[in-house]
Amino acid sequence: TTQDRWNAVDQYVTELLAPADEALDAALAASAAAGLPPIAVAPNQGKFLHLLARVMGARRILEIGTLGGYSAIWLARALPENGRLISLEFDPAHADVARANLEHAGLGAVAEVRTGAALDLLPRIEKEPGAGPFDLVFVDADKVNNPRYVEWALRLTRPGSLIVVDNVVRGGAVTDASSGDPAVTGTREMFELVANEPRLDATAVQTVGVKGWDGLLVARVVG
Ligand code: SAM
Repeated sequence: TTQDRWNAVDQYVTELLAPADEALDAALAASAAAGLPPIAVAPNQGKFLHLLARVMGARRILEIGTLGGYSAIWLARALPENGRLISLEFDPAHADVARANLEHAGLGAVAEVRTGAALDLLPRIEKEPGAGPFDLVFVDADKVNNPRYVEWALRLTRPGSLIVVDNVVRGGAVTDASSGDPAVTGTREMFELVANEPRLDATAVQTVGVKGWDGLLVARVVG
């Protein structure tokens, strides 16, 4: 099937360019053992986030939606020694697994997981001296709040920063203006917000692979 061929290509790319290592394998195994849903980014997508952070020379990274810390490991590995990743997670059980995974990966000193609803945690981060501005924000939580997360990302970044939003294609459902799915309506509202925001210069690309047909939006903060 088409999905089988997408999987085969992801496997090919991953083996050559984004091979797993002990910490990444352990993070996925611990996440599965704890009953977390298998919805982390694919390995080659994690590597893509890692490369974006490297290209940005990111010293401060904000992630919204930690799950078991798989994407956080990829992102935090791009940080310099004095860099910092803050990741926000609503579910305390997910956050516990993520903290242990980050610690196991040797990233306990640079990566911090904060528990709570992101919309409650973000205003506190804004008031916290030295937390921002973030060089890169990765949005991957409850999709219904994507417009709010992009607004917050704008407040917590600087000109030149990068905002990445995951799962913006949703098997093509993003084009369905009559959708009643809050993830779709939230994503569409986010697209319109980004399109109408002069401080953002953005595009979105579709992706296929082990995660099916989806895509991500990338926005550069202009000023
Ligand atoms: N970024 C992760 C990765 O690739 O490894 C995957 C994140 S998963 C798709 C989404 C996560 O967002 C879940 O762990 C979920 O509990 C969390 N979440 C849902 N609603 C949230 C909210 N309001 N605030 C913070 N996190 C939330």
